[in-house]
Parts: sequence; C-alpha cells; structure tokens
Amino acid sequence: MSTRDLRFAIVGGGMAGILAAIRLKEAGLTDFTVYEKADRLGGTWRENTYPGLTCDVPSHLYSYSFALNPDWSHMYAPGPEIQAYFERVASEHGVVPFVRFGEEVVRLDWVDGRWHLETARGTRDVVDVVIAATGVLHHPRYPDFEGLETFGGACFHSARWDHGVRIDGARVGIVGTGSTSVQIITAIARRVRRLTVFQRTAQWVMPATNPAYTEEQKAELRADPEKLAALHARLCELFDVFANGVVDARSSQMQMIADACRANLEENVKDPVLRERLRPDYQAACKRLIMADGFYEAMQEPTVELVTEKIVRVEPEGVRTADGALHDLDVLVLATGFKVDAFMRPMAVTGAGGVRLEDEWAQRPNAYLSISIPGFPNLFMLNGPNGPVGNFSLIEVAELQFGYVMQLVELLRSGRCRAICATRDAMERHEAARVEAARHTVWSTGCRSWYLDDRGVPAVWPWPFTRFREVMAAPDLSAYELA
Ligand code: NAP
Repeated sequence: MSTRDLRFAIVGGGMAGILAAIRLKEAGLTDFTVYEKADRLGGTWRENTYPGLTCDVPSHLYSYSFALNPDWSHMYAPGPEIQAYFERVASEHGVVPFVRFGEEVVRLDWVDGRWHLETARGTRDVVDVVIAATGVLHHPRYPDFEGLETFGGACFHSARWDHGVRIDGARVGIVGTGSTSVQIITAIARRVRRLTVFQRTAQWVMPATNPAYTEEQKAELRADPEKLAALHARLCELFDVFANGVVDARSSQMQMIADACRANLEENVKDPVLRERLRPDYQAACKRLIMADGFYEAMQEPTVELVTEKIVRVEPEGVRTADGALHDLDVLVLATGFKVDAFMRPMAVTGAGGVRLEDEWAQRPNAYLSISIPGFPNLFMLNGPNGPVGNFSLIEVAELQFGYVMQLVELLRSGRCRAICATRDAMERHEAARVEAARHTVWSTGCRSWYLDDRGVPAVWPWPFTRFREVMAAPDLSAYELA
C-alpha cells in the first residue's frame, strides 16, 4: 500500500480551527488552508466584545493542553485576554500563513472522491478532507418582537456589541438573563443612568469569585512547567466530577450545586420581593449553569430595575410590556442567545450521490459521535451536534475529537481507504442510545434551554465525560464505511 498525499480545508479559524491547523502541521500534513470569513482568528472571542466578557471556565482549564499559559491574569480570564491568547498561540505555531482571511466557505460538493470548495468571493479549492470547525454559539438569535425595527435608540445583539454607542449615563434595556446578560449587567449596572433587565425566566446563579493571580503566582508557574501542567490536570479532574454529575439529575454533585445556588440567592438578595422574582422554579443546572461574581449585587443597585412582565412590543421610545408600561430606553441590548442548530450551515454541502446536508438535517442536525455524517465522506466536525457542551472546556472536547479524527485521517493517508464516513446504522444506534440516556440528565428536568432540540431532547453528550474520553481514544471502525 502506498501512502497518499492529502489536501485539507479547515473551515473556521476559531479555537477548534486553530487546534486542527496546529495538529496537522505537527503530523507533517502541511497541505492545508484555513478558511476564515473574518479578518482575524479567534471565533467566538473575536465576535463577542461586550462589557464584562469573561470565560466562566477557569483559565488554566480553558487552555490548549499543549500551550498552557502561566500568565493568565485571573481565575476566569477576560475575553480580550483569551482572544490575545488564541492569536498568540496561532502565531507561535505558524498557523497564520495557512489562513485565508475574508473567505467564507459557501459551498462544498463531493465530486469524484474529493471536496470541491467555493467561497463567497469565488475562490475555489479541491481537497481530500474537510474539517468543519465552525463553532456552536455562532449565529445570533434575534427575538421577533413586534416593532423592533421602529426603536428610536441603538439596538444590537450582545454578540454584535456596538462600541460606538454610549452606555455611560444612558437608559439601557437588556433582554435575557443567560450567561451573557449576567456578565453585561454586572459590568454596566454602575455606569448607566438606568438599566432595565427584561427577564423571561429566572436563573440559578452559582457564585464564582474571580481573584487575580499575583505576579509571584505567575512567576512560579512560568518557572515550573510541571506545576502548570499539574494545575491544568487538577482542574480537568475537578471538572470531570461536575461533568459526570450532570448526567444524573439526582447526583450528589447536582445537589451541592443546587444548595450553593440557593444559598447565594438567600444570602445575597436582601429584598424578599426581589428575591422571589429572581428565584427560578426548576432544578439548578437544568439550564446552562450561570457562574457569576457580583450579579445579585448589581441587581440591587438603585440604577437597576427588574421587569418580569412579558414584552409585547418595541416602540420608538422603548419597550412596552404586558402590564401596559412603557420602559423608556436609549439603548436596547438583545442578549437573546444563538441559533444553536446551524453548525456549518448556511454553507451548502452536497455529499455522495448528491445528498444535501440541508435535507439530511431537515429535521435536526445529527452526526455519528458529533463528528461524521453518513453520506458525507472525509468531512469531520469539531464540536458538532449532540456533543459535550455545558459548563466545561470546549477546548478539551475539541482536542479529544481531533485526536479521534486524526486516526481516521491516518486510514486515508496510509492508503487503507480513499473515503471514510460513519454508517447510517451506527449513527442511528448511537442516537437511540443517546436520546434514552439524555432523559436522565439534569437538562431534562423541566426547563426551557438552548440544550433542548425540537423534541425537547437535550442535544448533548448524556454520559459521563470519562466515557467520552474512552470513546474518543480509538474509533470503532465497524461504525464506518471505508471505500
Ligand atoms: P442564552 O443562554 O440562550 O440566553 C438567552 C436569554 O434570552 C434567556 O434568558 C432567554 O430567556 C432570553 N430570551 C430569548 N429570546 C427571548 C424573547 N423572545 N423574549 C424574552 N427573552 C428572551 O444566551 P447567552 O446568554 O448568550 O448564552 C449562550 C451560551 O453562551 C451560554 O449558555 C454559554 O454556553 C455561552 N456563554 C459562555 C460564557 C462563558 O463565560 N463561558 C459567557 C456567555 C455565554 P429564557 O431563559 O426564557 O429562554
């Protein structure tokens, strides 16, 4: 058997795309291009620039295992620092020359055993393997409020923050109370004239203080890479405990989280009326758990008003709620989340025999182990549908997935096959087991959240994270069709 030279396209230059590029280079597979639609790398950390942006996964965990960073400023790093980290790692690993910026991939067609790619600018490429690293929380979801377009002030989505708009001293409204909104509220409550928080559903909030690392601590980690690695490993283990707990709604970990959230609410919200309005009526961690420092304090600032009445429409002066009140605003921030079922769409992808991804995913997106779609050979997704999302490091998830993908790539490189993709049978069997297991997770305990698909089934990995590691360690080739 002779080895085969492979050409790759990596779609997306965020955390996962940078990772894929680094790993391909390390493996000596240097015939690849990273297609990035923007003019910078960084993905979600490039797109989100809202005030208060922080990663609520500890910095020393939210790092590539091969590029640990002794210099994180805080336990939970601010967004711009994370963006700088990704750009620095990409640059140090020589990824940048492989990137074509301003190139949005709009078409992928599997023709005669290769992927024919086209970008919005008309650039074409023909590759053997596509790595789709297009992110999950990527496409903003806008609410369909009547009259939204008539609003007379500034209005933008949290992921499209308009830094030209003055927040200081303004009357600001914010829709939503997810992780994003909580960070924005905490950051701007004391800067605005008035902050009106439109809450549809109350959230459990896990207290997470965010101490800065001292210069001595950083110097110690810098001087001792083993210590830095041990810190990363310890955090991975700690998060495993959480990740293994969420898959059993009655686990002791979930009970501890519920107790901590309840105590946070009881002890830190003084006014009993406000406390009840902020009290959720579902189990903690059913929605994505909010980790926050100072949120309840911000909500008790005299500048902040909590509105729980339904929004009925937006008018030129502000937001009208169901009780008839008009909330006058200069700025309206829509922290309303993302379309989480798009994945690599709206890219038009046509696989073997002319099957269109749009049709394959007409009901909902799916892929065997979140990575491979039947009928779409040599196309591998990172952080694809139904994978481990939640309060853990998507970096570790992507690293494990890419290790798995590289083993499939090796089959192509070694000449064992020319095309590989999961069988439909394997995907369907996996999906049936996944849906059954998902029923017992904390995400199924009765709340509305972005984890739930159109059937109300959590679109996530429903087993312990340790099992995910085991499954990613080596592909079960009986689940694949090799051609
Ligand atoms: P989200 O969790 O989906 O929250 C959206 C919020 O908007 C919810 O409170 C939702 O209310 C509300 N909303 C949506 N449509 C509405 C409507 N039509 N009327 C009224 N309210 C509406 O979005 P997100 O806060 O941007 O967070 C998304 C995910 O991004 C997080 O869960 C997390 O995974 C990630 N994230 C991570 C970090 C981090 O630090 N690592 C920070 C920010 C975000 P309901 O609850 O009633 O649906």
